[in-house]
Amino acid sequence: MSDKKIPLAGVIGCPVAHSKSPQLQRHWLTTLGIAGHYVPMHVEPDDLEGVIRSLPKAGFVGANVTIPHKEAVMKIADKVTDRAKLMGAANTMIFRSDGSILADNTDGYGFIKNLQQGAPDWQPADGPAAVLGAGGACRAVVASLIESGIPEILLTNRTRERADQLQQEFGKRIRVVDWVQAGNIIEEAALVVNTTSLGMVGNPRLRVPLDGLKPEMVVTDLIYTPLKTDLLQTAEDVGCTVVDGLGMLLHQAVPGFERWFGQRPEVDTATRAAAIR
Ligand code: NAP
Repeated sequence: MSDKKIPLAGVIGCPVAHSKSPQLQRHWLTTLGIAGHYVPMHVEPDDLEGVIRSLPKAGFVGANVTIPHKEAVMKIADKVTDRAKLMGAANTMIFRSDGSILADNTDGYGFIKNLQQGAPDWQPADGPAAVLGAGGACRAVVASLIESGIPEILLTNRTRERADQLQQEFGKRIRVVDWVQAGNIIEEAALVVNTTSLGMVGNPRLRVPLDGLKPEMVVTDLIYTPLKTDLLQTAEDVGCTVVDGLGMLLHQAVPGFERWFGQRPEVDTATRAAAIR
C-alpha cells in the first residue's frame, strides 16, 4: 500500500453549509484526476485558531476562509500577502511545507479575470468605472481596477463615509459621489459595477436610475443569486455587455486550488454548471 499523503483542503466558515466551494473544488479534483479531498468546516470563532493550527498536521495543504473569519485569519497567519493587507481580509490560506501559514486574498484577481472572460473587448482605458457600494467586496473591486490602470472610479455608497474612507486609502483616481447621484455616474461610465447586496435574493431591489445605460457599456454585478439580477437584465435589454457574479466566485478559487493541488483548473461552462448544481 502507498504511504503517499492524500492532500486535503476545505472551506472554513460559520455557517458554511451554503458554500458553493466544495462542489466547485470537487469538480476540479475529479476532472483533473487528482486524488485529493475538499470539505466544508463549520468552525466557531473561539475555535478558529486551534482548528487552523491542527489542520496541517492532519494532512491539509490549505483552506478557503469565509464569513465571519476573513479578518481573524490574518492575525493567525505567519505571513499575509500585500493584497490581503490592502483588502483588510483574507480568503485563502496556504499551509507551507516549513509549517508556516500564508494568508492571501484572491477576490480582486477573481473580479478582473471574470470581467476579462465575460467582456473580452473591455479595456481599462475605455473610460471611468461607476462603482455602486463600498463594503468589503468593493475593496477588492476598487484595488483590482486601480491595478488594472483604470483612469477613474466614480464611487457611490448609501453611507458616504465608507466611500470617503476608500477614497482616502486608494487615492485620487476615486471620485466619491452622493448615493442620490448614482444615476448620473452611470451615464459617465464605460463600466458599471454593482458591489452592493441590493438585488440579491431576499434583499431589497437596487433602485438606482438606469436610463443612462448605453449599448457600448459593460455592466457587471457581484451578486450571483440570482444569476441575472434586475440590473443585468435591464443592461442586457439596452444592449450592454453583461457579466454575472458567478464567474468571480469561480476565478477567485483558481489560485488556491493551484497552490494546494499543483494544477491550474479551467473556469469553463462545465465549472459553472458544477457550481450551480
Ligand atoms: P457588505 O460589506 O455587507 O457591503 C454591503 C454593501 O451594500 C454596502 O455598500 C452597503 O451600503 C450596501 N447596501 C446594503 N443594503 C443597502 C440598502 N438597503 N441601500 C443601499 N445600499 C445598501 O457586503 P460585501 O461582502 O461587500 O458583499 C456585497 C455583495 O457582493 C453581496 O451580495 C455578496 O454576496 C456579493 N459578493 C460576491 C462575490 C463573488 O465572488 N461574486 C464576492 C464577495 C461578495 P452601506 O455601506 O451604506 O451599508
